[in-house]
Amino acid sequence: MASAALRLPENVPGDFFVDSTCIDCDACRQIAPSVFADDGDASVVHHQPETNDEARRALMALVACPTGSIGTIEHHDARVGIDAFPDLVSDNVYYCGFNAESSFGAWSYLILRPDDEGGNVLIDSPRFATQLVKKIESMGGVRTMLLTHKDDVADHERFAAKFKCERVMHGDDGAGRYGVERVIDGQVAVLIDDDLLAIPVPGHTRGHMVFLYKQKFLFSGDHLAWSPNRNSLIAFRSACWYSWTEQTRSMEKLLDYEFEWVLPGHGRIHHDSAANVHAALRDCIDWMKTR
Ligand code: SF4
Repeated sequence: MASAALRLPENVPGDFFVDSTCIDCDACRQIAPSVFADDGDASVVHHQPETNDEARRALMALVACPTGSIGTIEHHDARVGIDAFPDLVSDNVYYCGFNAESSFGAWSYLILRPDDEGGNVLIDSPRFATQLVKKIESMGGVRTMLLTHKDDVADHERFAAKFKCERVMHGDDGAGRYGVERVIDGQVAVLIDDDLLAIPVPGHTRGHMVFLYKQKFLFSGDHLAWSPNRNSLIAFRSACWYSWTEQTRSMEKLLDYEFEWVLPGHGRIHHDSAANVHAALRDCIDWMKTR
């Protein structure tokens, strides 16, 4: 729970506020950009919600915030934010909300598929929050849990225990140590289901993988994201824990694939035509080679 006593002075006066426990994960700014803004090392409220939709987005940010750093002076019905998750991104792909602090607020996603198409897929782990777990259960549960890399596993064990799902992760990121059911080894892409491909992309970590769904959605973990500041696709040079050279090489591998959506753990979501995303990926690789 956010504390009014810790309210950052940079918030504009009024109901919603961010307190000093903010870890600057960017989630609130992506969910409710008309309300939250970047203020150096933290987010602050730069505009108090005026419409019902702004208030709803601000309450969604409050629920998604991994550190409980968003508060209100007035009483609000928290269900407005809670019930909004999982939040539809496009087609049958959802953003889970309830970001976990242990993964520094990484975003996780849910693919809804009928059982005869392989069942539902959870990509990386949200917080194991009762309200979210019940909602996912009502949507059909989880058959498969894809883990992009070791930083974003969060509450994977609790989700696996609850839904009896098969977890998929690369061996070079400690999949064996985590008790993962399906361990991917080597650097060759592996078909998980007819429409779902696991692609090893070492760089950010040694065993990082991205997952391509229907040649349309790329779940990119911490490998690739959109930067609104640069207005381009980027990789995180200062948060590359294994090898930038390897990560650049892994990025080049992605030129062989087609996708329209980049759905990262950190950084912004991006959507454009496959041709434009491909061109942006080429620009990203050229930029990476200068870093
Ligand atoms: S979601 Fe929470 S931790 Fe993340 S930037 Fe916003 S206030 Fe800070």
